[in-house]
Amino acid sequence: MKTIIDKVNKDDCDVNIIDKAGKILKSGGLVAFPTETVYGLGGDALNKEASGKIYAAKGRPSDNPLIVHIADKEALYELASYVPESAIKLADKFWPGPLTMVLNKSAVVPKETTGGLDTVAIRFPNHPVAIELIKRSKVYIAAPSANTSGRPSPTLAKHVEDDLSGRIDMIIDGGEVGIGIESTIVDLTSEVPVILRPGYITKKMLEEVVGKVEIDKAILECNKDKNYKPKAPGMKYKHYAPKAELYIVEGSQEEVVKTINKMTLENESKGIKTGIISTSQTKDSYVSGIIKCIGSRDDDVSISQGLYKVLREFDECDVDIIYTESFMDDDFGQAIMNRLLKAAGYKIINGGIL
Ligand code: AMP
Ligand code: MG
Repeated sequence: MKTIIDKVNKDDCDVNIIDKAGKILKSGGLVAFPTETVYGLGGDALNKEASGKIYAAKGRPSDNPLIVHIADKEALYELASYVPESAIKLADKFWPGPLTMVLNKSAVVPKETTGGLDTVAIRFPNHPVAIELIKRSKVYIAAPSANTSGRPSPTLAKHVEDDLSGRIDMIIDGGEVGIGIESTIVDLTSEVPVILRPGYITKKMLEEVVGKVEIDKAILECNKDKNYKPKAPGMKYKHYAPKAELYIVEGSQEEVVKTINKMTLENESKGIKTGIISTSQTKDSYVSGIIKCIGSRDDDVSISQGLYKVLREFDECDVDIIYTESFMDDDFGQAIMNRLLKAAGYKIINGGIL
């Protein structure tokens, strides 16, 4: 299959391109499109064959449910069998935006879209291209991240092309995404809402709207205890993995730089090609290795935006080992560290060892 790739200006998108994509969706085809989090691989959420194609194109395990994207809050009542008060309050506050809500599904949503579950994950994205596409196509779009399963999520159309070219009908190139990591997922099917995946919308922000919110224990504990099973099926898979071995180095900034410099020199003396994920604050303090800057510590979003891009860039450099600095795991930092820990397979080095 030849994949059509069309560029759009996100602030003034060409409706002819959007309508071409809409026709593909209506007829059961797949279209990758930008959202404010990462690029999504879209298909008609109410068409089970289209959902099947999404799993096949990504090589995604069939028990890993898809998020259904809407462009109108009223769609909640069509897709969910019951819409609790908390969902209405959260939608009013955070939609359109990077928040996905899990609710009990209605009969119109096929189990092929929900990975066999009786619940459905729903999000109203805050990106003009995504919103136009959903509105003009009149399709609810099931869309996981538009990467091959196990690879870092795409933040540029080129990443989608690298992974899925020839396997999907169309890619809408709307430039670089804003946040760069996936939405917060909150499960509203229990009495107390539970965060299944941390993201830009933090626990604190949710609690200001709906009171007490819990975090799925598996997110906090799976690096210590493998027996915790995450409630979001997708969170159990090794995700976001770069080709090289990735290690997170913890400690004070000075300790971390010193330890990474020492390990890099040692590696290089043995012919081990080493990459370093630095920040604007430290990039000039490293003495060897392939040094890439993820973003600035003064701006969390610059770090989330740079995370997957840097991991993909290292895949193209053929490094054997990557060392990354670590980040505060409070508020939005918790989402950044969650993705980094998964990419690293929870391998952490104490930078204070020198
Ligand atoms: P992706 O869009 O690739 O980031 O993947 C979607 C994420 O949403 C995966 O981690 C899924 O496990 C999660 N998800 C989707 N639907 C549900 C649901 N009904 N219940 C729990 N998690 C879900
Ligand atoms: Mg994904």
